[in-house]
Amino acid sequence: MDASEEKVEERARILVIGGGFGGLFTALGLAGAGEVTLVAADDHFLHTPLLYEYLSGEVEAWHIAPHFRELLDEDKVRFVQGAVTDVDFDHREVTVAGRVRKLGYDYLVLSVGGITNFWGVEGAEAYALPFRKIRHADDLRKRMIDALDRIPPDAAPQDARRAATFVVVGGGASGVELSTKMSDLLRDAFRRRGLRGEPRVVLVEMGRQVVPGMDSEIRAVVEKVLAEKRVEIFSETKVVEVLKRGVVLEHAGERETIEASGVVWTAGVRINPLIERLDVEKTKNGLLVVEPTLQVRGRPEVFALGDIAYFPHVAPSLAGTAQIAFQQSKLVARNVQELIDGGVPAAGHFEELGEAVSLGVDDAAVLTAGRVVGGQVARQARFALYTSRLPTWHHRLRVGAAWFFGGKAPRPLGLQGDIIKG
Ligand SMILES: Cc1cc2nc3c(=O)[nH]c(=O)nc-3n(C[C@H](O)[C@H](O)[C@H](O)COP(=O)(O)OP(=O)(O)OC[C@H]3O[C@@H](n4cnc5c(N)ncnc54)[C@H](O)[C@@H]3O)c2cc1C
Repeated sequence: MDASEEKVEERARILVIGGGFGGLFTALGLAGAGEVTLVAADDHFLHTPLLYEYLSGEVEAWHIAPHFRELLDEDKVRFVQGAVTDVDFDHREVTVAGRVRKLGYDYLVLSVGGITNFWGVEGAEAYALPFRKIRHADDLRKRMIDALDRIPPDAAPQDARRAATFVVVGGGASGVELSTKMSDLLRDAFRRRGLRGEPRVVLVEMGRQVVPGMDSEIRAVVEKVLAEKRVEIFSETKVVEVLKRGVVLEHAGERETIEASGVVWTAGVRINPLIERLDVEKTKNGLLVVEPTLQVRGRPEVFALGDIAYFPHVAPSLAGTAQIAFQQSKLVARNVQELIDGGVPAAGHFEELGEAVSLGVDDAAVLTAGRVVGGQVARQARFALYTSRLPTWHHRLRVGAAWFFGGKAPRPLGLQGDIIKG
């Protein structure tokens, strides 16, 4: 064994890029296993499944987006904030924007997730609101409050409705969860402000039905609740242009313009630009090809997981979910440790853990063990499930206690406590 091998065995440099479900949980799993460094563009984790509840004020930022410095024991995992712009696989180092010195590694874990895919639709990048980050939810909440504030108290019902029209693009789980929350929040605001008429939330889906790919029983619950919450579904409809104040739709060859105070885009995820730049084997969709051990093909010291990795041996419904990223993080941590110890990495097997969809501020649908549960019970079950998926015991306990003693009631739009940013 030469001197450099000995050094690697003593104190392996493990670099984890990305602090989401894949990256953060891998870093936590490897804490103390070597010189572990987590590099992430943001300074906090985000429990994305509860971003809708953050929008509605049912949960707070510290519950679902704790800072890495709070979660990581700095003696065991160092945190570096910054966007990685390049990886040099041959020299085993990565470039971080704004840092002169590159970061070297013996083992590299890539988990940088995806970004919003606007599919090149005209005006979408400029005018549509993405919904993937805390700041996106803040922007949307502000947009809804601004729209409501512009409605005079004596406005005619049709004028109030026009001013409080919002369009959600994409009828997948994300679009459904978002549109039901928005509808509940806006209808509640109409009642509180004594406005006449009702707001309008339109959900645009290109396919024939909402939540494609989900179990038909859960879809039946979703469709029923969408109708109850007065979300208008435009199926088999394409967005052809997003305007500063509206959207142009196409259905059966006919075009229609809907004036709107906000257009929110949930219709698709694109590969992270960092991954696009890397010279390793990828699928035709740009995902990294990984071995069953989650090692990047041809680079055994590099692992990839979560939204950027193509792992063919699972149910298609698991692809691109927090569920699989979370499960994969356990395997990656184990396999990196195995390599450090001179062992052989193991292949992974990942399970479908069930489906859960939030439906407004008082409802949800949960599919577990082949049964669909709806209503308040499902809402509570969903919270319980997600509390167990929050990082670290300490954080879980703090959040669990806050929910237990403080409750999870929504915060009406525009009431005190709203963060109004310029
Ligand atoms: C609103 C919303 C709701 C969702 N709801 C659900 C749900 O209910 N159930 C479910 O299973 N899945 C859900 N998902 C999908 C789920 O969030 C993702 O599948 C999961 O987060 C993927 O984990 P990941 O680690 O691959 O990426 P992410 O969790 O996206 O983490 C990526 C990390 O990489 C960092 N990063 C990005 N680029 C760089 C860079 N160049 N350099 C350094 N760091 C970088 C980011 O800051 C982030 O920390 C939802 C997604 C969204 C957006």
